[in-house]
Amino acid sequence: MFSIKKWRNGAKWTNWSGNYLSYPSQFYAPQSIEEVCTIVQEHTFSKRTIRVTGAAHSFSPVAMPEQSALTLHNLRGLIHVDKAAQTATFYAGTYLHEVGPILAEYGLALINMGDIQYQTLAGAISTGTHGTGITLGSFSSMVKRWGIVTGEGEYIEHERGPDALSEALHVSLGLIGILVTVTIHVMPMYSLQYTSERSDFQTEVNHFQQTIRENRNVEWFYFPGSDQIQVKKMKQVEPIAQPKFQKMVDRTKLQVVENGAFFVASEICKWKPSLSIPISKLCAVAVGREQRTDISYEVYPSPRSVKFVETEYAIPVDQFEACIEEVNSVFARQQFDVHFPIECRTTAGETGYLSPTQEVESAFLAFHMYKGMDESSYFAWVHDMMRKYNGRPHWGKMNKYHRDNIESYYPNAEKFNEQRRMYDPHDIFLTSYFRNIFK
Ligand SMILES: Cc1cc2nc3c(=O)[nH]c(=O)nc-3n(C[C@H](O)[C@H](O)[C@H](O)COP(=O)(O)OP(=O)(O)OC[C@H]3O[C@@H](n4cnc5c(N)ncnc54)[C@H](O)[C@@H]3O)c2cc1C
Repeated sequence: MFSIKKWRNGAKWTNWSGNYLSYPSQFYAPQSIEEVCTIVQEHTFSKRTIRVTGAAHSFSPVAMPEQSALTLHNLRGLIHVDKAAQTATFYAGTYLHEVGPILAEYGLALINMGDIQYQTLAGAISTGTHGTGITLGSFSSMVKRWGIVTGEGEYIEHERGPDALSEALHVSLGLIGILVTVTIHVMPMYSLQYTSERSDFQTEVNHFQQTIRENRNVEWFYFPGSDQIQVKKMKQVEPIAQPKFQKMVDRTKLQVVENGAFFVASEICKWKPSLSIPISKLCAVAVGREQRTDISYEVYPSPRSVKFVETEYAIPVDQFEACIEEVNSVFARQQFDVHFPIECRTTAGETGYLSPTQEVESAFLAFHMYKGMDESSYFAWVHDMMRKYNGRPHWGKMNKYHRDNIESYYPNAEKFNEQRRMYDPHDIFLTSYFRNIFK
């Protein structure tokens, strides 16, 4: 979780997984939009780069500051709700764990959420953070109106439309401007009936397309080397809260099993990597049947205290079965020492010059490696394999984007760059990682 206490000049900046760190000379935590404008104007004048960081939950260097770092930790909270239009305007620094309870006061809720809720709204929107559901888009797709401070230090608001700026802002990685306010589409408050169970890999593959269309949210955890997977499904129901005692029991179980026991298993794998596949198989067998119903924002996120690094790719959903069967055949030959399950989700296709879905209904496959274990050969293989399936990496996860390949992933990359140059003519948002892609 982000801590403002660590936000001081001369401090070290690091992301959640600790695979990127830097030492910016200036840390800013503005209290108003006007202050953000002034800070940006100073950087325009002095030609120093400034990068805005959300909760630093990206595994790639997208949020890594170099000369100056800025947080919107002091620009959080609700600005306005339009219940009839089902929209809500927030300061973009609001953390996702704050959004659910705020909206609930108005009988409203987020349309979808991912695995955790420590990110900021701005960070989640800027990278196309997603949950699961073949009819549901990412956080970026929820946006109706963006309020940004441009690279010239001017505050502008832009309503989504069929125009170049909207396409660029959809997934914009802090390159078009600093997102300070955001109006998002929301929906009436709801609960989710959640089930999780162990199932046979091949049976689930055979029914995959049917399952993802019959259930609002479906998520798989594929255990390397095992013929058993964990299938999580969620169904939308009337808003009812889970009894407090049962909630406490379920949370303790999650903390002990998904985090405590898994941490021990991960330490064993780090010590002796050859035990990874047997431990993965054991984890698969340990998956029991679970069921609970609660308000949506209590169900989507899970605690994630075991640290890892991750890469994740979007592929066209109709290629999912072929892809996961190839993954399975490689693990059957025990080619890699991996115990972390591969997480499989789906989303609707969505617009946006840099959206990894490129308007195609997509399956997302996320590959993890325990922090401290060597991920390089595993992720190199993942990268080559996912290219075969036209995979595009999630911007917030480890990726190999570069100016030499960006157009092969994103045919409209140059159109994005035109907008970027227009709104950041002095390149003050362009850190080295982005310079290697967009300069
Ligand atoms: C444990 C864990 C679980 C995760 N689960 C999921 C998941 O379920 N689904 C998924 O899709 N992703 C997931 N992610 C990835 C994560 O959601 C994204 O990387 C997200 O961008 C992180 O949000 P953040 O607020 O930490 O932003 P950061 O990582 O701090 O920043 C991300 C990008 O947004 C930019 N940015 C931040 N604030 C602003 C702003 N105000 N204006 C303009 N640009 C800004 C940054 O400069 C950077 O380019 C997970 C990550 C972790 C560590």
